[in-house]
Amino acid sequence: MDRDNPTLVLAQLRAFSKQIPLLYAILIANTAFVSLTHFGVAPFYLTVLLPGFFCCIAALRLSGWWRMRKSRLTVEQAARRLTSTVYLAGALGIGFTFWGFALFPYGDVYMQSHVIFYMALTMIACVFSLMNLRAAAYILSCVVIVPFLIFFSLQGHMVLTAIAANMALVTAVMLFILTTHSRDFALMVSQREYLEAVNRETQRLSDDNRKLAHHDSLTGLPNRRSFIAQAEARVNEHLAGSGRNFALGIVDLDGFKAVNDLYGHSTGDALLVEASRRMRDIAGPDIIFARLGGDEFGIIAGEKVDLPAFGRTLCEVLRQPYELQDVTAEVTSSCGFAEFGDHCSTTHELFEHADYALYQAKDKAGGQTVVFSAAHRDSLRQVHEIDQALRNADIERELALVYQPVVDTRTGRLASVEALARWRNESLGSINPAQFIAAAEKTSLINRITNVLLRKLLLDLGQWPSDLTASFNLSARSLASPDAMLQIVNIIQRSGVDPRRIEIEVTETALMIDFEAAQRSLVMLRNLGVRIALDDFGTGYSSLSHVHELALDKIKIDRKFVGDMSNSPKAASVVRTVIDLCGNLSLVCVAEGVETVEQADSLGLQGCHLVQGFLYGRPVPARDVAAMYVARRPGPGRALPKSRRKSG
Ligand code: C2E
Ligand code: CA
Ligand code: CA
Repeated sequence: MDRDNPTLVLAQLRAFSKQIPLLYAILIANTAFVSLTHFGVAPFYLTVLLPGFFCCIAALRLSGWWRMRKSRLTVEQAARRLTSTVYLAGALGIGFTFWGFALFPYGDVYMQSHVIFYMALTMIACVFSLMNLRAAAYILSCVVIVPFLIFFSLQGHMVLTAIAANMALVTAVMLFILTTHSRDFALMVSQREYLEAVNRETQRLSDDNRKLAHHDSLTGLPNRRSFIAQAEARVNEHLAGSGRNFALGIVDLDGFKAVNDLYGHSTGDALLVEASRRMRDIAGPDIIFARLGGDEFGIIAGEKVDLPAFGRTLCEVLRQPYELQDVTAEVTSSCGFAEFGDHCSTTHELFEHADYALYQAKDKAGGQTVVFSAAHRDSLRQVHEIDQALRNADIERELALVYQPVVDTRTGRLASVEALARWRNESLGSINPAQFIAAAEKTSLINRITNVLLRKLLLDLGQWPSDLTASFNLSARSLASPDAMLQIVNIIQRSGVDPRRIEIEVTETALMIDFEAAQRSLVMLRNLGVRIALDDFGTGYSSLSHVHELALDKIKIDRKFVGDMSNSPKAASVVRTVIDLCGNLSLVCVAEGVETVEQADSLGLQGCHLVQGFLYGRPVPARDVAAMYVARRPGPGRALPKSRRKSG
């Protein structure tokens, strides 16, 4: 028995527990028949006592094996059981054999034949049943066949000697077959064991895969794919009439990018893990969280959840400081919810609505929750209409540029103009550029629009005095695309206009989408002689280090800060900081959205003399620019018109 091979031992025991009861049953039955034929002829102890004793042992073993059929033994117990079977097979073999010899002299030839027949057949049956335990089969064959051969050869009768020889031959063949069989059995067991191991491994891998496919490996939350699948399942249940109402939410961490950039990705990761832990803590049976990617998380909330209240709790929980490795970080979050129901009928729409609500939430100050409403639906519909109309628009004809003056408050002169896009569509009327530019940026249509508008600007510049410069707004998408940039450079070079008369305005947000690509684009433009202005400064996220790294000429203070300057100390301090920053870095500073004389005065006192805003003029068509230039040019012997007197 191979004790080092536990699987084989257990397999032998299993095969055995089925065969051994049969072995004992046949042994008992055959013995009983021989006892019966010899009863009265042979002595009582040979026909009843001795066989009765052996059969009792056999019966006990039989019931033992029978009871054991279903129990699970340890390898040690199984090995002990098999060892005892080996010894018992030897002992019982000897016992029954010598009982046969003792009976043989009694009775007639038929009875003698019965004894020989009994011994031979019972042995074959027993060896056959012991096939899976080679040791037991060998021992049994030896203890029976050797005495059998000797005993019957010594009887001095040809027929008996021949029977003994036959038996020896049969046993030899049987042992040979048994040896091969037990080898095959061991092989089969080891192969099965191997296959089971392979199966287990395959199962483990597929479990891992399933987990990976459905979970986010960083946070352990369900991933985007699984989130969409769950949302889809609920929508389908709903459409089939069996589901309950539910809402889909999207949460976005505001300020996470700053943590990532400032402290590194491992700190950023730790923050995400902690944020997900907090989400799990407040996720009741009615709420499922998932990580959609980056710092964006998804929520599926049951119909009973009070969305605004839950959103407030969530934002509050996420706003608590994060104690990470060796820093304490803080982020806020915005949350948008959309309920499945009246406003939408597909998962896609539901996502779009939640996304729109999130967008609205982000537009407010951080830490807000917005639930998609009927009003949102109307404005979203308008977005779609714009999208559609833009695709079908005759860009060349429908798009135009208007120009807003940038004035130097010290001289009242026109410093430059900013080109602003206008779109008049036959069915939709005039559309706000903030809206259609955003729509165009979703597709490569923005590149066509940029090219068309840039050509128009260059044509206009060619008509104006050669010292008048103009700025042009460049979209985030163009800035990140080397292809689009090459087209832009090409258009400028072929126009014949001096590139130094062109200024390109880029926003911080646009720069941050792909900082390296944006930087390359800016260098390319700068090499051409084009100047670069950073637009809407202060609204997006950009660290001062980025401003240092960029090839900039000018910073434009966003109109929001200029507008709030007088009543918000925070806005006033941003304005002051930007003006100081420009002074330190020798950058030109322009204030946008100047609407009152007070604002212009305050900016002038702080050292910002270039201003743009309704106080100095609204955007005008190209044909009015030349007149504007002349009006603001100091004529000989003419006092400079004080802009404020003029507009105020
Ligand atoms: P922006 O680059 O910040 O442009 C200035 C916006 O402020 C203009 O709005 C202008 O009309 C407005 N504005 C000027 N002075 C005042 C003021 O005193 N008070 C107030 N409240 N607003 C003032 P507009 O023309 O609607 O443009 C909105 C935005 O659309 C622009 O913001 C710019 O980001 C984008 N945009 C406009 N034209 C283009 C373009 O040709 N290409 C690209 N990529 N974006 C453009
Ligand atoms: Ca601008
Ligand atoms: Ca601006």
